[in-house]
Amino acid sequence: MNVPFLSFEAQHAPLSGALTQAFTRVLDSQWYVLGEEVHQFEREYSAFNGVAHTVGVANGLDALALALRALEIGPGDEVIVPSNTYIATWLAVTQVGATIVPVEPDLATSNLDPDRIAAAITSRTRAIMPVHLYGQACRMTEIMHLAADYQLFVIEDNAQAQGAGFNGKPTGSYGHINGTSFYPGKNLGALGDAGAITTDDERLAQKVRVLRNYGSQQKYYNETIGFNSRLDELQAALLRVKLPVLPEWTRQRQQIAAWYEQYLTDVSGLRLPSVAAGATHVYHLYVVHTPDRAGLQQHLTRHGIGTLVHYPIPPHLQQAYQSLQLSVGNFPIAEELAATCLSLPMWPGMSERHVAAVATAIRSHQ
Ligand SMILES: *Cc1c(COP(=O)(O)O)cnc(C)c1O
Repeated sequence: MNVPFLSFEAQHAPLSGALTQAFTRVLDSQWYVLGEEVHQFEREYSAFNGVAHTVGVANGLDALALALRALEIGPGDEVIVPSNTYIATWLAVTQVGATIVPVEPDLATSNLDPDRIAAAITSRTRAIMPVHLYGQACRMTEIMHLAADYQLFVIEDNAQAQGAGFNGKPTGSYGHINGTSFYPGKNLGALGDAGAITTDDERLAQKVRVLRNYGSQQKYYNETIGFNSRLDELQAALLRVKLPVLPEWTRQRQQIAAWYEQYLTDVSGLRLPSVAAGATHVYHLYVVHTPDRAGLQQHLTRHGIGTLVHYPIPPHLQQAYQSLQLSVGNFPIAEELAATCLSLPMWPGMSERHVAAVATAIRSHQ
């Protein structure tokens, strides 16, 4: 049995009528940028995420960069980021001209380790950017306490964790202003690029509303040097169809993870995801770790099982960041995670038979 790494079939097929209707509604409205669909989606996503304000933007990277700009973080400021994350987290800090200060993750969860943050704080530190990697919430209570003690801002990167929470409070509602992505493969995905910031702070929300739209509130009156980073009406209308189904998709992802755990628990040399006390995991990705990553991946490919590596090279070793002059050995935990991680198939609609087929293929390795 072949199991693709990702399939949208089960998510989209039952919604195809509603998605088509949403498309027709936008087509007929003759209004395609910043209108009623974006406004309604922002309200609906705020209710879902337990925040006062959502501001739709063009993508997740822009959401993070605009969040930093709204906080007026820029050159000379230091921002603490995880040493292992998708590079977008780092790029947002670089885009605003601030200095990246990487902090190592907890080996067990792959998430930023709150116990290592204090040692990285200097007089120039302005913010901490926790990333809820793979869909697991970071230990937000400790991170928020640290931020309060040192008077720092917190910007959550919630691109992979829509619907997760820590101690019952949603990710994306802890930080002063947070970013998320609705890239198609994310847990809540548009049919193209889309993203948003979430915040309880009306002043910060308003700053992003102005920045996303050419620095303007009133057409052709520009108060600040802005950007064009708007969520369009079509993507907002499609996201409004999908948002109500997200809790059911999350439930399915968690069921699939439970099956994996049941089927893979005693495979030697294979470390399964572990969830920190108080955290929920919404399994954007189901990531296992093995010293024989290349061998296992090749073996699974031969058996028709799709896998990917998230991510093979940590940001500090990317060519893009060679100017930071960091090298192998600077962030050994991030490097070890990058060398051993393998993402197994995970998509709403996967059945227990799919999981069993993946497990059988893994067990037949060696
Ligand atoms: C996807 C992702 C982003 C960027 O989102 P885009 O919409 O692709 O710009 C940022 N951070 C993390 C952790 C992501 O997974």
